[in-house]
Amino acid sequence: MFRKVLVANRSEIAVRVMRALRELGIRSVAIYSDVDAHAIHTYYADEAYPLEGNSPKDTYLNIKKIMEIARKAQVDAIHPGYGFLAENPSFAYACEKEGIVFVGPSSRVIELMGNKIAARQAMKRAGVPVVPGSDGEITELNEALKIAEEVGYPVIIKAAFGGGGIGMQIVRNAQELEKAMRQATSVALSAFGNPSIFIEKYVANPRHIEFQIIADRYGNVIHLGERECTIQRRHQKILEESPSPVMDESLREKIGAIAVRAAQALGYTNTGTVEFIYSDGHFYFIEMNTRIQVEHPVTEMVTGIDIVREQILVAAGEPLSIKQEEVVIRGHAIECRINAEDPFNNFAPSPGKLLGYRSPGGIGVRVDSGVFTSYTIPPFYDPMISKLVVWGRTREEAIERMQRALYEYIIVGPKTNIPFLKAVLANERFRSGSFTTHFVSEESSLIPEAARILAEELPLQERLQKIFRVESKATAAAVAVQSFLYHHYPAKNEE
Ligand code: ADP
Ligand code: ADP
Ligand code: MG
Repeated sequence: MFRKVLVANRSEIAVRVMRALRELGIRSVAIYSDVDAHAIHTYYADEAYPLEGNSPKDTYLNIKKIMEIARKAQVDAIHPGYGFLAENPSFAYACEKEGIVFVGPSSRVIELMGNKIAARQAMKRAGVPVVPGSDGEITELNEALKIAEEVGYPVIIKAAFGGGGIGMQIVRNAQELEKAMRQATSVALSAFGNPSIFIEKYVANPRHIEFQIIADRYGNVIHLGERECTIQRRHQKILEESPSPVMDESLREKIGAIAVRAAQALGYTNTGTVEFIYSDGHFYFIEMNTRIQVEHPVTEMVTGIDIVREQILVAAGEPLSIKQEEVVIRGHAIECRINAEDPFNNFAPSPGKLLGYRSPGGIGVRVDSGVFTSYTIPPFYDPMISKLVVWGRTREEAIERMQRALYEYIIVGPKTNIPFLKAVLANERFRSGSFTTHFVSEESSLIPEAARILAEELPLQERLQKIFRVESKATAAAVAVQSFLYHHYPAKNEE
């Protein structure tokens, strides 16, 4: 078993991983940028080492620096969390070379799945249904025209190395194709450092449904059912749930078996997510994420399985502790991503100081957060404040519980997407369970409804702002409480 693990990430996911390490009796090592010197993950860890600077490039993406710290701290393994270096094959390779376990699949598999074209080909070979489209990279207009004709318009152009919902181009007819190809290529190059693109049929009214899998080093692979991630904005997830309202036991068994087969064909180890587009009863593979996913808690809530714990154990060479037939899906879970962003200004990030903060609680409520009162959300990274997750016996109960939890949430300072989430939860179509990935763009009432909710809450917000502006003493007290909680202030190992 590992003695010490470095968590190469920040905020809520770093804390999430360190919690699992603590329960396993493994020492945790944090790394932190300048602004994160007093962030929760820095306090939570048993040891913390500074990365100099603040830009992602200088800090949480700085492979050389992170490997230096890993050597110095003499860790057995590195957990990458999600985002940052989680799907970077060079980072996994650097760990392999150094004899440090990378808590993830091999660099070879990360590289393969990081290229959506190669992933499509590998999945096709394994008998997994993929979205109809090009076999390989597309460089010539004539080729693109031919494939688009074959699969039928509309089509979607994607970057082979894409992620985060960025740079996809929907093409409705042959006239639009050339320009879209040019744009997609240039976005791919600037955002992902590689211009390679490919074409898929644009599935008209799909849902995004993904399967969680875990694989050990001995060929054992299980799935933990599905997550419904259809509620998206610009191809980015907003709210996730498990199970999916369209799933039944036999369909779950069938698609789960496909996800397991895909992992086995790859020689996959670690947790992973097989993402599918679902339309009219058909599932099509779109990509595989080779890491722990943002929305993994909804699966934990309905299965009772600590996915991060299992991930660490299989990385340490343990066999899976659960068999497929022991996995039981119980009740319903929903996750809302609580972001510091302004829904009334195109969801622009709204970083800044949390003058007041109180998260919800009570039965069936889980909050994974990286913040506390008086914490300042830095402008350099994701503006996520927390993940609010609820469990209920039924979908209806989970929705009501989420509404109650959002009602309790107090965030004073940054603008948040909470009014928008409240509007989604009150929406009839959302509640009926029959929606597609176009839900947010089609439901034009969401923003006005969110504005109405915000206006209603404004007097209370203003009162809270006033109270919390008398802040200097309160701030000092909050920081003291925070540091007392984690015993070391300032962070250990500071040079
Ligand atoms: P998930 O389903 O886990 O949310 P995503 O693909 O949306 O998966 O990404 C996970 C995390 O990584 C998110 O925090 C997202 O912001 C970040 N991320 C993924 N791809 C990119 C990218 N190309 N550029 C910037 N951030 C990214
Ligand atoms: P990323 O790596 O950015 O997460 P994905 O391939 O997972 O990219 O796609 C992200 C989202 O884009 C999907 O959840 C879905 O909403 C939409 N999408 C992707 N491919 C298709 C497709 N072929 N047809 C329709 N929508 C798609
Ligand atoms: Mg995806």
